[in-house]
Amino acid sequence: MLAGNGNGPESMSTATRLDRLRYALDGAGVDAIIVTVPANIRYLTGFSGSACVLIVTGSGSVACTDSRYAVQIEEELREAGLGGEVKVVVGNLKEQESAIVAAVRKAGALRVGLEAEHVSWAAKEKWAKSVAGAASAGGAGCDVVATTELVERLRRCKDRGELARLERAASIADEALLSTAGMLADGPTESEVALELETAMRRLGAEDRSFDTIVASGPNGAKPHARPSDRRISPGETVVIDFGATFDGYHSDMTRTLCPGGELHGQMAEVYKVVLEAQAAGLAAAGPGVAAKDVDEACRDVIKAAGYGDAFGHGTGHGVGLEVHEAPVVGPRSDDTLEEGHAVTVEPGIYLPGIGGVRIEDMVVVGPAGTRVVTGYTKEIWR
Ligand code: ZN
Ligand code: ZN
Repeated sequence: MLAGNGNGPESMSTATRLDRLRYALDGAGVDAIIVTVPANIRYLTGFSGSACVLIVTGSGSVACTDSRYAVQIEEELREAGLGGEVKVVVGNLKEQESAIVAAVRKAGALRVGLEAEHVSWAAKEKWAKSVAGAASAGGAGCDVVATTELVERLRRCKDRGELARLERAASIADEALLSTAGMLADGPTESEVALELETAMRRLGAEDRSFDTIVASGPNGAKPHARPSDRRISPGETVVIDFGATFDGYHSDMTRTLCPGGELHGQMAEVYKVVLEAQAAGLAAAGPGVAAKDVDEACRDVIKAAGYGDAFGHGTGHGVGLEVHEAPVVGPRSDDTLEEGHAVTVEPGIYLPGIGGVRIEDMVVVGPAGTRVVTGYTKEIWR
């Protein structure tokens, strides 16, 4: 999925997103929103810096940053097609706050949303005070109000450009594992495997890894979020490898449980078969219009039926995009429904303390009639 000019992934429809957010503001009963979550700012404007406050009102938007990003913000907004649309203010925190207050006043906003799940108590108090000051000029009172997931909800459905980036990240990870898996037979430590995998991803064009790489061999596999250690990997044991790449801001996420040097025997062989079957059931259940909790249930039923229900403690999956964990949630208590354009993981596992663990994870993209798996590495574990 490359652009016609062959220079990189196809472009994203960033410029349409501010208007989609404005529509959501109406629904949430606010006149404006102050956005501070970096992934949300990047989604709305293309700006990828780490310090920014963005206000979006019914009629305009202002992005504030400091001098470190003065050049970058102009470049990235222009690339996103928002050069003329988003006003940029570069200054210190006081100047940024004044610019936000001016935008509130100009829009005549009475209710200004804050991202409730991400704003600290101190920041909420600060904005409440300064925004109240904005309104006093016009007479009417102006309040800050809590908003939930307004931008995150937009981010769930990826456009073609976003999907192209996610798929590129996934294929980089596939290729990196392909070039790294052979070393497992030589008895490396977990840390050596993680380092090799991460280096391979960078060589293949990744900006970074998606998250701290997990390489968990033998009994360490029973810890779902184990850190790579100096433990040496032996033939015939399981090695849970959970990792991903980022490409142009978009993440991939995949887990394979490998078995260096031969076939698995005994209980772990049985456990592997159960998890593989559970994961296949989850992949088969996923699709547009499907309740995310039904995908979880499809996986969980297989694991329960095999007698390992208590050994699968985490949810089945999560959305992936500008963040490695984002909406929707694929778990037993999820209210989310899968829709075309969602990218989610399906990752059941079984963890047996003192013995080992197996997790198998793919990333799928929901299409108009089904799903497409974008992580391609084999699930045949003997190598
Ligand atoms: Zn993962
Ligand atoms: Zn995951």
